[in-house]
Amino acid sequence: MRSVVLLGAPGSGKGTLATILKNSWNVPHISTGDMFREAVRANSPMGLKAFEYMKAGLLVPDDITIGVVDERFSKSDVKKGFILDGFPRTIKQAEALDEILTKNNIKLNSVILLDIDEKLIIKRITGRRTCPKCGAIYHIENVPPRKQNICDKCSSDLIQRKDDTEEVVKERLNAYNKQTSPLVDFYRNKKILVRIDASKTPDKMIEQVEALSL
Ligand code: AMP
Repeated sequence: MRSVVLLGAPGSGKGTLATILKNSWNVPHISTGDMFREAVRANSPMGLKAFEYMKAGLLVPDDITIGVVDERFSKSDVKKGFILDGFPRTIKQAEALDEILTKNNIKLNSVILLDIDEKLIIKRITGRRTCPKCGAIYHIENVPPRKQNICDKCSSDLIQRKDDTEEVVKERLNAYNKQTSPLVDFYRNKKILVRIDASKTPDKMIEQVEALSL
């Protein structure tokens, strides 16, 4: 069973990697960022609360985030494996994940660290465009859609995420360095951390993951 966490700074390619891996591994892709964006679109009270933090580049409080993941893990599809993208992001969330997995009798096999130089991140994120309908991710230079600003897969108009501006990205990087980077040691100590070079293209990243034979 492939049960992995993708750990990495914003813009390191977690979403892109997860979208490719979920198809080849046939496991659900669980992205807390996507779940929050969905809640924002639905105008739910939780979405409105989460949006206050997201638009400022801050982490949504742990109790909300952990609740969302706890609920997601009550669905049976996670029994065949999963790719967690963007969760956990704090030590408290990592501890809560341990509890959620134990409760559901599931084991976490690996945490893949997407290692990337911060200088590359701003360029990557500000050029990122996403499909609001099917979730496909593009980059205006590195992974352009065939037709400008139109999704290759479902022909919807692409958008730039509201938190993908340079100003907000700096806050998100700050949150990563302060609150999320301690997870590298947390999982290294559990001996389940593996690392890939995330400065490469999506194809090269996939090759590195495959070479790990998870
Ligand atoms: P992402 O799409 O993973 O970059 O997430 C977008 C935004 O959603 C983040 O900048 C946070 O505001 C929020 N978010 C997503 N996942 C988490 C998490 N695990 N903990 C707290 N906030 C999160």
